[in-house]
Amino acid sequence: MGTASAMPISDRNPSAQMFNANGRLFLIDCGEGTQKQMRKCHFSFVKLEAIFISHIHGDHLFGLFGLLNSMAMYGRIAPLDIYGPQALGGVLNFYKSYFGAEDQYEIRFHALQSRGLELVHTSKYLTVSAFPLRHKIDCYGFRFDETVTERHRRENPAYVAKSYAYCSDTAPFDELPEYVKGVTCLYHEATYMNDMADKAANRFHSTAAQAAECALRAGAGKLIVGHYSSRINDIGALLAECKEVFPDTFAASDCDVFEF
Ligand SMILES: [Zn+2]
Ligand SMILES: [Zn+2]
Repeated sequence: MGTASAMPISDRNPSAQMFNANGRLFLIDCGEGTQKQMRKCHFSFVKLEAIFISHIHGDHLFGLFGLLNSMAMYGRIAPLDIYGPQALGGVLNFYKSYFGAEDQYEIRFHALQSRGLELVHTSKYLTVSAFPLRHKIDCYGFRFDETVTERHRRENPAYVAKSYAYCSDTAPFDELPEYVKGVTCLYHEATYMNDMADKAANRFHSTAAQAAECALRAGAGKLIVGHYSSRINDIGALLAECKEVFPDTFAASDCDVFEF
């Protein structure tokens, strides 16, 4: 729902994705404008099962207060699990004390401290694991793994579970391809292109080629990139840089839908 970095631009919002597993909705990051994007993409405000926040940079959570407030106005009563770095706890307490004192649903905050791949959420059809990223501040990626059911096995004994991983924001590092090993589909930030590799390194971000390198080393099925710097004018050129390393790459635009 959002493919910009840092701040909204005319045709791109900051980071937010909806992962839909058989109708169960999981929001990953919640940049400014997420509520409006959810409406545009026809996602329910009340059916959200959990929210995963990668880190406490505004382009990944400035939309959270509005969304929490709207869920209360829609009469949500089901508890809401929110996962994120320790510091998110303070942000949620601020919301609760100034805006959410009368909300009828409970926010269950889970502080992440994973040093490696760690199971954090179990749902009916999947598990979610968190893993550390390398950014200026405490930051986490998320991996969604489908649970293989009896029905899967009955219909196809060789059934291979599908999986998705979300990596934003991060500089490249050796363990990352291990955390996302073999995923069906990988999302990886690609804030800059090669000509701005220095800037990427200084700001703990990745270039398009580095995102593709991660997908290649992980043996991912497909790669989706986003979180583009507002200085990238030609997304086609950025995509070409990825495809040189990892051909099965898609450069996401806001409200794109990927099914797998
Ligand atoms: Zn960001
Ligand atoms: Zn950031």
